[in-house]
Amino acid sequence: MPLYQSNQIKIYNSLTGKKEVFQPINEGYVGMYVCGPTVYSYVHLGNVRTFMSFDMVFRYLKHLGYKVRYVRNITDAGHLENDEDAGEDKVAKKARLEQIEPMEVVQKYTVDFHNVLNNFNFLPPSIEPTATGHIIEQIELISKIIENGFAYEVNGSVYFDVHTFNKTSSYGKLSKRVLEDLIHNTRTLDGQSDKKNPQDFALWKKAEPQHIMRWPSPWGDGFPGWHLECTAMSTKYLGDKFDIHGGGMDLKFPHHECEIAQNEAAKGCSPVNYWMHANMLELNGARMSKSTGNTVNPHELLSGENNFFSKAFTPGVVRFFNAQSSYRSVLDLTNDGLLASEKGFYRLMDGIKVLKSINASGNSSLNVSEWRQKCYDAMNDDFNSPILISHLFEAVKYINQIKEGKASISADDLKTLKNTMNAFVFEVLGLENDEETNSSSDKLAGAVEVLIKLRQEARANKDFALSDKIRDELATVGIVLKDGKDGTTFSIN
Ligand code: AMP
Ligand code: ZN
Repeated sequence: MPLYQSNQIKIYNSLTGKKEVFQPINEGYVGMYVCGPTVYSYVHLGNVRTFMSFDMVFRYLKHLGYKVRYVRNITDAGHLENDEDAGEDKVAKKARLEQIEPMEVVQKYTVDFHNVLNNFNFLPPSIEPTATGHIIEQIELISKIIENGFAYEVNGSVYFDVHTFNKTSSYGKLSKRVLEDLIHNTRTLDGQSDKKNPQDFALWKKAEPQHIMRWPSPWGDGFPGWHLECTAMSTKYLGDKFDIHGGGMDLKFPHHECEIAQNEAAKGCSPVNYWMHANMLELNGARMSKSTGNTVNPHELLSGENNFFSKAFTPGVVRFFNAQSSYRSVLDLTNDGLLASEKGFYRLMDGIKVLKSINASGNSSLNVSEWRQKCYDAMNDDFNSPILISHLFEAVKYINQIKEGKASISADDLKTLKNTMNAFVFEVLGLENDEETNSSSDKLAGAVEVLIKLRQEARANKDFALSDKIRDELATVGIVLKDGKDGTTFSIN
């Protein structure tokens, strides 16, 4: 029996503002879409936090036995400066500044994004579609929205008609905004815009002659509006209505609000059953943001080359730091916070090491089945990782007591304890023991030193055939020996 049958998850749904029992559309299957990065610069740790939170959601759903189709897109066109309908495309602007092709910008930052995710032990999504790869789908969507009477074309651009949409639906239902208030709070059009109303948003923008990223369409050469790509790609791979849509809190309005409007206007249904929004990462008390420059990127944190932190921190520590707070809380990245997480992380890893060496004897001093259920209950409660971690530490305390002879554990419970700790620490939280990784590289270095010594002995005995063989065979596996006046050193290619 899959674990999801005995574990009822509750998810905080941003649309209703309530925790709701999670019921997937098709039993045993979950469709999840998360807005991916706009690949015009390096991701910062705030971006990483949001993706990490959804990586944990993905991992837990998979752990429960769901077949999850997780779609996370790459925004490589259509995202204009300041998230607005005017201004330069973020990718095109970077291409202009760096004097390279827009697709070189996209490639550079997509590769870097993937490297960062690998460093932090992310699971890859099931599909990672790009906006530029789905222009045809976006044009089809626009045609449908125009046909249904919710969009209009002006001078080669197409805008979504928010006022008409609001007559039969409610624009603002996700972000809890009311159109009247929006009208009140927005500047009137300056005569430069083709929009009927300032609240309308672009589905398609006419490309001016200097705009490099352009595609032919029924309305002339242009490019899609930012919100449209997510509607096109989510519904293409997950259906007109799917289970979970995620992203950072800042995407609620206008991005996700517009996604709902587009879907309702094109397909007549609201696209998503559970909207999940991850809260913001701050840096020393202020939101981490590309636009204000208050950022640290992952390379800077992992290498220690930055002006904020006293030392370098490992990916495992950063992942643990993130999991110590709920994905719905604001999290402040501080030196003290990271140092405290580092201590906690290694205490947990030490506990796991001790767990490998303890033996069963007699009865258990802790009700292990009850403890195991508490771990599941924590994650079932809207993926409450900090509570899960508090239960993991309860187990660490117990493990240490067993080691010191102050507590005991039965054979069955020892098996349950090991399975549960491994499942939650490695599979669900995605933590990796950096020390173990380090110690395997230490072991490799030790083994190479042994071979260097044997080679020296062979040379001393004038057995040059053997000494060359050692050198050449190491080279074939990528370990290069270099003889210098202070002895032999090696490098790994
Ligand atoms: P972008 O590349 O700007 O579209 O952002 C990618 C993701 O990072 C989006 O889901 C944003 O909501 C999220 N994000 C941006 N800034 C932060 C932050 N300071 N903390 C957490 N998530 C963020
Ligand atoms: Zn999106």
